[in-house]
Amino acid sequence: MRLSIEQIISQFSQQLMVNSDTAKLDVELLLARSLGKDRTYLYTWSDKPVTEKEESTFKALFARRLKGEPVAYILEQQAFWDLELKTAEHTLIPRADTETLIEWVLELADALPECAKVIDLGTGTGAIALSLAHEFPLWEVQGVDVIPQAVELAQHNAILNQLERVLFFQSSWFDQVEGRFDLIVSNPPYIDPDDEHLAQGDVRFEPKSALVADNKGLADLELIAEHSRDYLVEGGWLLMEHGYDQQSAVQQLLITLGYQHVATRIDLGGNPRITGGQFYKGAV
Ligand code: GLN
Repeated sequence: MRLSIEQIISQFSQQLMVNSDTAKLDVELLLARSLGKDRTYLYTWSDKPVTEKEESTFKALFARRLKGEPVAYILEQQAFWDLELKTAEHTLIPRADTETLIEWVLELADALPECAKVIDLGTGTGAIALSLAHEFPLWEVQGVDVIPQAVELAQHNAILNQLERVLFFQSSWFDQVEGRFDLIVSNPPYIDPDDEHLAQGDVRFEPKSALVADNKGLADLELIAEHSRDYLVEGGWLLMEHGYDQQSAVQQLLITLGYQHVATRIDLGGNPRITGGQFYKGAV
């Protein structure tokens, strides 16, 4: 007797529970991919037996998840904001926490020019740049990354989401960037090299270049905040993601550098996650 969809989900979720907080969802996503269907299909056809071929495809994916590999890398796909993005081992997996940044930009948008010029530093999959371009069809959006494969991936994601007008190019932070921007956004690496979380869960599989920064994780946040002053228009905004325990350090950094209206937003998990401010050259 072949197992039904429902039986596979219950049996394999049990097994994965020790390794994943989202065991049932993980199994559903891997099974849906193995069947070439979406998750709704699993509920509609829960009694349907799974063929031998489908089961062996599923088991191969499941074995990778059991060893800890993130679902987003196994499926090479991750949802972010309203977009589906291709993921790859060279870059960070987009996270729901980062959507807090997009929400803040939505609030700021009325005060920005109609054709605002925006840049996303360390764009990775292109998640932030593409979401902003999707929300604001008139904005001129750029994204840079130091890793060439990330730039290629972001360009690929632009095509997948019909957002080819976003300009992605290789640059170490501002090195190859020209002009001034109404808004600079970034989710840079900000984890302390000694942080024990690096040895746990999904982050073990993500590239250190996207996660870790010197000086207790603050080195890249400092560099971006310092140089952004030369790339913002008068009164332009800088918004940066940071670690749950870096709010006061990042706020202090921005204030010291002369930013005004410095504030922080809390993510869905209740952690301070995005800090930003506005820069007026004339005011310093
Ligand atoms: N928020 C991620 C984590 O803690 C890190 C992302 C980053 O370093 N930019 O797993």
